Amino acid sequence: MFEDLSSKIESAVQSLKGQSKITDVNIAETVREIRRALLDADVNLEVARQFTDDIKERVMGSDVLTAVNPGQQFTKIVYDEMVKMLGEERADLAVANTPPTVILIAGLQGSGKTTFVGKLARYLKKENNRNPILAAADVYRPAAIDQLKTLASEIDVPVYSINQKDPVRVAKEAVSMAKSLALDTVIIDTAGRLHVDEKMMEEVAEIKKAVNPDEILFVVDAMTGQDAVNTAKAFNDTINFDGVVLTKMDGDTRGGAALSIRSVVQKPIKFMSTGEKLDALSPFYPDRLAQRILGMGDVVSLVEKAQKEFDEDQAQKLQKKIKSDKFDLVDFYDQIQKIKKMGNITDLVGMIPGADKAMKDQDLDEDSFKPIEAIIDSMTPEERHDPSLLNGSRRRRIAKGSGTSVREINELMKQFEQMKKMMKTMTKMNKVGRAMEGLK
Ligand code: GDP
Repeated sequence: MFEDLSSKIESAVQSLKGQSKITDVNIAETVREIRRALLDADVNLEVARQFTDDIKERVMGSDVLTAVNPGQQFTKIVYDEMVKMLGEERADLAVANTPPTVILIAGLQGSGKTTFVGKLARYLKKENNRNPILAAADVYRPAAIDQLKTLASEIDVPVYSINQKDPVRVAKEAVSMAKSLALDTVIIDTAGRLHVDEKMMEEVAEIKKAVNPDEILFVVDAMTGQDAVNTAKAFNDTINFDGVVLTKMDGDTRGGAALSIRSVVQKPIKFMSTGEKLDALSPFYPDRLAQRILGMGDVVSLVEKAQKEFDEDQAQKLQKKIKSDKFDLVDFYDQIQKIKKMGNITDLVGMIPGADKAMKDQDLDEDSFKPIEAIIDSMTPEERHDPSLLNGSRRRRIAKGSGTSVREINELMKQFEQMKKMMKTMTKMNKVGRAMEGLK
């Protein structure tokens, strides 16, 4: 995520690291480089200017001038300012005093609106024990209603739709339905168009008037850079939304939308979506994204996810094994099962400092593990415990048994070695976390 921006900021800061002191001259050059990096990432000009002015002011006005380690202190200031630019605190969704909570979703067609409705329902159900109902108020495209129904059936959530092109009625009746079924949340999917147009805005405004939502979320494709920011402005002027959802953050987005939108529309980013699957949704934490952009890795998210799957006891045992090089294919198999449970694999890799760049060309998903599982299943217990036994004839036998090829087995053994290395990095992450605490 935001690789180009990350590496440019890193190289700008790098130039300070060799210096014993921050001076007017070297700081001016570094700040200029950072501003250039932001503009290259399609950050709004005014936002980029404000950001770098604030950094400069803080650096010049603080005791950093006499700092022992200017590079580190400077990074800390950039980090603080970036967190500020992204909105400081995590912004939660509103919850109605009297259920149901009504959440209205608006955005352009293709922004990922309908997918987000499904993701949000899944998230609220799983994380907050809520019972949502979806309202299919995108009534003009039958495909949109079908899409919503398909998503809903995957997560076992009801959908309210009618065979009439009356979005206001759909929304109102969905709310009544929620009341009569004692469902606590209504998520309304509205129609988008390819561009901002008056009719679409009017329609969303009418739905808003009719159901008085507790929360209006504006969904926008983060890949569209400054267009995303302009669209957000237009929507906000008409419907005065409460929060932003950035989608397609897994794509090749340069970062401009994510970094500018908050300052331009003065509304918090509440969620980000990082893939097409229903589990590819994360609440938005300004500090975590800043850590990722600045190459600190999203250690906190990773640790939280890991904590859900790995208990302390197991973790310690595993650490011992890793340290003493006793981590074998049985453990590997076990870890794969846990990683699969932790959610989107590419996301996880992106959170590990350094691994993002190293592994960006590998297309990982759950299916990538199937041949691996088949190969390990076809091994004898001795082979699983001691992979060094795997000579040519054993590999041929395993390939036959697992329906794979010797090449795949060789590949797996390479991956296994890589994973061992990665696990070592992960065990070191505690240290990274502590170092970051020190920076705060
Ligand atoms: P809508 O027209 O706004 O309702 O958009 P859809 O929900 O139909 O999404 C449009 C396309 O974007 C679909 O192909 C989705 O699978 C895809 N999509 C949605 N969110 C994401 C995301 O976070 N990442 C990626 N890569 N694709 C997404």
